Amino acid sequence: MRQDQEDPYQRRSARVYAAADRAGSGSVAGPRPVLYDAVLLDRDGTLIEDVPYNGDPEKVRPVPGARAALDRLRAAGLRLAVVTNQSGLARGYFTEEQMRAVHARVEELLGRFDAWLVCPHDDADGCDCRKPAPGLVLAAARELGTTASRCVLVGDIGRDVVAALAAGAAGVLVPTPVTRPEEIAAAGWVATDLPAAVAEILRRQQAVQPSTSPGEPVRTALVVRSDSAGDVLVTGPAIRAVAAGAQRVVLLCGPRGRAAADLLPGVDEIIEHPLPWIDPTPEPVDPEALRSLTARLGAVGADQAVVFTSFHQSALPLALLLRMAGIDRIAAISDDYPGSLLDVRHRVPIGVPEPERALSLAAAAGYRLPDGDEPVLRLRRDAVAPRPADLGDPGYVVLHPGSAASSRACPPEVATRIAGALTDAGHRVLVTGGPDERAITARVAAAGGTDLGGRTDLAGLAAIVADASAVVVGNTGPAHLAAAAGVPVVSLFAPTVPFGQWGPYRVPTVRLGNAAAPCRDTRAASCPVPGHPCLRGIDPDEVVDALRTLAVSGGGIR
Ligand SMILES: [Zn+2]
Repeated sequence: MRQDQEDPYQRRSARVYAAADRAGSGSVAGPRPVLYDAVLLDRDGTLIEDVPYNGDPEKVRPVPGARAALDRLRAAGLRLAVVTNQSGLARGYFTEEQMRAVHARVEELLGRFDAWLVCPHDDADGCDCRKPAPGLVLAAARELGTTASRCVLVGDIGRDVVAALAAGAAGVLVPTPVTRPEEIAAAGWVATDLPAAVAEILRRQQAVQPSTSPGEPVRTALVVRSDSAGDVLVTGPAIRAVAAGAQRVVLLCGPRGRAAADLLPGVDEIIEHPLPWIDPTPEPVDPEALRSLTARLGAVGADQAVVFTSFHQSALPLALLLRMAGIDRIAAISDDYPGSLLDVRHRVPIGVPEPERALSLAAAAGYRLPDGDEPVLRLRRDAVAPRPADLGDPGYVVLHPGSAASSRACPPEVATRIAGALTDAGHRVLVTGGPDERAITARVAAAGGTDLGGRTDLAGLAAIVADASAVVVGNTGPAHLAAAAGVPVVSLFAPTVPFGQWGPYRVPTVRLGNAAAPCRDTRAASCPVPGHPCLRGIDPDEVVDALRTLAVSGGGIR
């Protein structure tokens, strides 16, 4: 095609400027890093000071510390791309030649980037690449020979983070004075400046790579994750890492997590027992029950135990039982002083995604995911039930309004309006819920959709979710089933716990709801604020728009 011909596809596409010797850079010998291959950087306000519609190379001013920070990423073998909205091209404020001169100046000051991805459009063009659409992120990943989920994007405004998450990448927000407070509240990962963002990217990358092996060959590893289905599912990558280094893996879980434990790859045997210091509605401590648990754990004959917990749970009571059961090597995360209860005492900052938090404990105990096993949530293929035949073809939207914790459930009247709006927009809606949520699912489905309330167990729900084009759900188990199936999520996320820790992991996601609502970080099981304002304000049209954003990502719709 000649340069002067109008190419309708080109008009809607990002401009890609690849480095001449793209194969050469960034490859460092050794095993593939577990988390990331590439870092994508917004340009204006992130790498260089924001000079609106700048076409003048003389006005390029890097942010403080940018060159050294980028060189740290290059030295770590990460590939770098710039992903930038330049609507000044569409508006005629500068020419492409001027923009190239600006980019040449940026590279002169900050070093070479492996690719430049530019959206030349403005909002009226309806393109797929202008952030917050995910197109630039997806194009950058392709250009760098990786996938969006192996990329982390650094940007200074909400639309950078939204684009990253909608593509399934991680997103770090580095606020500037122009960043809006609600954008900061909604971001799951915030850094004070570019060097701090880079330091945390490298720290997280390093934290999941073991510096030691587990030592003597591990015949049997005992892994522990109590609490509910979602907790067990997000621990899956870490359990697979342990399974890669041990001949046999025994998982101790609680009754509320048992169905999820049955779905996890790498688990050879399950012991189910409630732990009264973990359960949200605990029974009184029964000394006899704990004595029999201790005996049972001792009978496992484990060489090592790895006790996984959430950031608000203590591993120490169980570590004591494990010591009494005769287990010699015990690893856990503990900010509390563990005395002689732990051999590997690991610590993790707040805000790390739960799957990575668990992977970093596995790494501290000497385990890593083998090459080729991505750090994504996964389910055993043989454990997922076949999907009921009467649901029609794949490609429906699953709407799951409930949650075991009411503070994280979508208010029924909001879910009802969402069901109606989705149906009006032409989506086929399946409304799912547990046996005790039948009244809600019936009410929601009456507004548009098929009521599946109480019809499925977790394995059956996993099968239904796997064939969805998207799942609309709060911060609850089915969000993690969607992540495990690679199905995009519209996350109606109550901010009772950090989104950065509990948001759907490594799957295209749009977050909705008021992230700054007063329930933020309360960890409340039932909403402490009258009216449940964090989710009540969701406009059903936002859900329809979110699905549109995820659909243009291309990766999610099958
Ligand atoms: Zn564009």
